[in-house]
Amino acid sequence: MDKTTRISKSLVSESAPKPAATKWDYAPAPEARDHVKIAERYDLFIGGRFVPAKAGRTFETINPATEEKLSVVADAGPEDVDVAVAAARKAYRDVLSKMPGAERAKYLYRIARLIQERARELAILESLDGGKPIRESRDVDVPLAAAHFFYHAGWADKLEYVFPGKTPRSLGVAGQVIPWNFPLLMAAWKIAPALACGNTVVLKPAETTPLTALRLAEIVRDAELPPGVVNILTGGPETGRALVAHPGLDKVAFTGSTEVGKAIQRSVAGTRKRLTLELGGKAANIIFEDAAIDQAVEGIINGIYFNQGHVCCAGSRLLVQESVHDLVVKKLGDRIQTLRLGDPLDKNTDVGAINSKMQLDKIRGLVQSGVDEGAEIHQTCCTMPSRGFWFAPTFFTGVAQSNRIAREEIFGPVLSILTFRTPDEGIEKANNTFYGLSAGIWTDKGAKILHMATRLKAGVIWTNTYNKFDPAAPFGGYKESGFGREGGRQGLMSYLTFG
Ligand code: NAD
Repeated sequence: MDKTTRISKSLVSESAPKPAATKWDYAPAPEARDHVKIAERYDLFIGGRFVPAKAGRTFETINPATEEKLSVVADAGPEDVDVAVAAARKAYRDVLSKMPGAERAKYLYRIARLIQERARELAILESLDGGKPIRESRDVDVPLAAAHFFYHAGWADKLEYVFPGKTPRSLGVAGQVIPWNFPLLMAAWKIAPALACGNTVVLKPAETTPLTALRLAEIVRDAELPPGVVNILTGGPETGRALVAHPGLDKVAFTGSTEVGKAIQRSVAGTRKRLTLELGGKAANIIFEDAAIDQAVEGIINGIYFNQGHVCCAGSRLLVQESVHDLVVKKLGDRIQTLRLGDPLDKNTDVGAINSKMQLDKIRGLVQSGVDEGAEIHQTCCTMPSRGFWFAPTFFTGVAQSNRIAREEIFGPVLSILTFRTPDEGIEKANNTFYGLSAGIWTDKGAKILHMATRLKAGVIWTNTYNKFDPAAPFGGYKESGFGREGGRQGLMSYLTFG
């Protein structure tokens, strides 16, 4: 490893300036943000109108790349949850339950088109509020969010053909809670299938990334969706707790950490509410000696460093066949040196800001545990911006399966490299986790792909690629990564009952 820094004792301060070490210098190419208007304060979206929280509480949302305040947002309390659930119930009873599927489809198409029309604004806002590179929000998050609405619009009037011989019926009111890593996309994953199946919605975005969900509320209003069909409540864990515990819901859909997912499962147990959980992951990205190594290295980079590793299905455990370990480590070491970390609004940025101070502290703690437990750390020597929350792309070699960095979800740009000799050992190590969300296989042998894929306990398996999403492909986990699927025909089942 020539160019990555090996640090064996404790971590150097992330804020300490280090020499720039990128191979090429680009002139800054920041996306202009002047046409994106951010209001000084935002209210809750209930019953088709923006209204302040009843108790008057608010919280700030900041830009994690600069720590500057972006706006002040209403903090919904239990009384606001009551009003929002009542609005959603009324809209279900009076409007949506009577609306033909073809009509629902028109609204979904309209929302999809409005997302496309406002794509640039949404992408900038997502990068400002969440810290992800504009390349990701512009090319991945926003187009996929629109695609989700388009895809589900197509199903809205065809539900009886999806499930032949059955009579699908909507559930009623869905309470939906989402995390901060794909704020707009997760909102689309939740709202689009719910509406396609004829349910109304109360959605709570994460407290660190409320802005694009609030823009989506404006889009819903501009699409003239009947009032109360979609309601957006901003707030923190308390708001989420009050929402999922509300007796007026028929369905709870949650995406977030396994710990919170378990708490929600306990709170929903014994009620009539249907539940789907999309939780954490510790994916294995498995590289065989016969893989196209350069392509696999790009897959690793895409799987863990783009988007700062803030991806539930991030390939955070790299399982490399022993014979190509040194080659892969060498190539990876060279490649991460070329990653550009910095201003999320710069179109050349590969690695943006960590979403919050809390998440940065969690990443630092886990990385320190890797060092303390004897793994060897390799980090790029990129220059860190002086403000904001940043973590340099990092990988560990010499990792034992028992190390915390091999077991716990880090949710940052940190990779743990382990080795295996035979396919069966690879499978055993890949499955040696409480999680089961995703996995990657890199080999040029089709038979090996099938052998591995049928034995891996993961809801999504990519072969010779990584982190590819499509609304038609169901997404979801095994084991402690949750249950239920989002996307595809299977995703529709989460919002239907059959009678
Ligand atoms: P989190 O669980 O801390 O929070 C998620 C959401 O739940 C937030 O909106 C939060 O305010 C709310 N919340 C917190 N406590 C709650 C409670 N007791 N009751 C109800 N709501 C509560 O997760 P996070 O840190 O925002 O997101 C990161 C996690 O999300 C990671 O574990 C990641 O793997 C997971 N994730 C999973 C998927 C998937 O599809 N499986 C997708 C994205 C993220």
